[in-house]
Amino acid sequence: MTSVDPQPPPPFTVEDYLARAGRVVTAAGERSLAGVLVTPGPDLVWLTGYRPTAITERLTVLVLRPGEPPTLVVPALERPDAESAVGVHGMTVIDWADATDPYQAVTPLLDPDGTYGISDSAWALHLLGLQRSLPGTAYRALTEGLPMMRAVKGPDELARLTAAGSAADATYGEILKVRFEGRKETEVAADLAALLRHFGHEQVDFTVVGSGPNGANPHHEAGDRVIQRGDAVVLDFGGLMFGYGSDTTRTVCVGEPTQEIRDVHEIVRLAQEAGVAAVLPGATCQDVDRAARAVITDAGYGEAFIHRTGHGIGVTTHEPPYMVEGEEQPLVPGMCFSVEPGIYLSGRFGVRIEDIVTVTETGSRRLNSTDHGLAIVE
Ligand code: ZN
Ligand code: ZN
Ligand code: ZN
Repeated sequence: MTSVDPQPPPPFTVEDYLARAGRVVTAAGERSLAGVLVTPGPDLVWLTGYRPTAITERLTVLVLRPGEPPTLVVPALERPDAESAVGVHGMTVIDWADATDPYQAVTPLLDPDGTYGISDSAWALHLLGLQRSLPGTAYRALTEGLPMMRAVKGPDELARLTAAGSAADATYGEILKVRFEGRKETEVAADLAALLRHFGHEQVDFTVVGSGPNGANPHHEAGDRVIQRGDAVVLDFGGLMFGYGSDTTRTVCVGEPTQEIRDVHEIVRLAQEAGVAAVLPGATCQDVDRAARAVITDAGYGEAFIHRTGHGIGVTTHEPPYMVEGEEQPLVPGMCFSVEPGIYLSGRFGVRIEDIVTVTETGSRRLNSTDHGLAIVE
C-alpha cells in the first residue's frame, strides 16, 4: 500500500476567522436577527478554531452583533484554553466565575428585545437561562435562522475537503483488495477505519458495511453478519481530515453479480450522474433531488429510494444545504454536498453511489473520483 504523508494546508489565520464572523453578522442583519449566539460545537470551531476539551454545563458562548466586537464569554477556569485558539486572538473575551450567574455576563451584550440565532446544539439549560434573564428576547435555531451560514466554502476550506475526498478515494482503492467472503461486516468496517486513518483522517465518523439484506437499510452501520458470495455490499465511509469531512459510497459485489444486481446498480449509477449534472449555480437544491429521483422513478423503483439525495459537508459530515424536495435554496459556487441516490430492496439488497461535489462558476466538480462501475471483490 502506498504510504502517504499528506501536507497539512496552512492553518486558518485570525483574519480568516474574523472575516467569517463579519459575514455572519451581515447575514444575520439581512435576516432581521439582532445577533448570533454560538455555543461549543461545529459553529464555534468554524468561527474561532476553539474546541473546548469537553462540552459541559458551564456556559461558553460567542456573541456576534452588528457594530460590536465579537465577544466570547467563557468560564474563568477555561479562559486560558479559549485564548489559545487562533480565532479568539481577534476577539474580546469575558469570563464568569463559579458561584456567579453566567447569564449576567451575557445579558449586557444583548439587546433585551432582540431575536437571536443560536447554535442548534446549544443546551436547553443555557437557552432557558438566557430567556429567564432577558424575557424580551427570542431565539431561532441557526439551521432555521441562518441555514447557509457555513454552506459556501472558501478556497482554503475547499482544499481541505478535496484532500479528505482524495483520502477516502484511496481508502476505496485499498478496500477492493481485502477479503470480503467469510468475514464479518465489522471486520471490513475496521479495515475501512484503519485505511481512512492511514490516508490522513484524524477522525472516522462512519464505516457502513451493508452486506446482502443489510444493504437495504441505509443507516445500517456494520454488524456480525458474515459476508457471503453473491452479496451486494454497500460501503459508505467518511470522517474528518484537517478538520473537514469526507463521505463517499460505492456498492460492490462479492463474486459474480446477478443480472438484477447489475440492473439496479446501473439505474443508481445513472441517477447519480443525473443528480450531479443538475448541479449548476442558480439551480435549486430540490432540482438535484428531482433529477436523481426521476431516473429511479422512471425505472420503476421510486418507492425504493427512501431518503433525500444529499447533504452538505464541511466541518461536519452532515449539514445544510440539503438536497431534498421543498428546499428552494439556490446553489452558489463554493457549496459542497453529497449526491447519493440509492435503491433499497427490503430483505434482499441495496445499492447506493455517493460523491461529494462542489458548485463551480459553470457547473460542478466532484471531490471523489473513484470508478462508479460495479466492482467485483473476493
Ligand atoms: Zn446519513
Ligand atoms: Zn455517506
Ligand atoms: Zn452522505
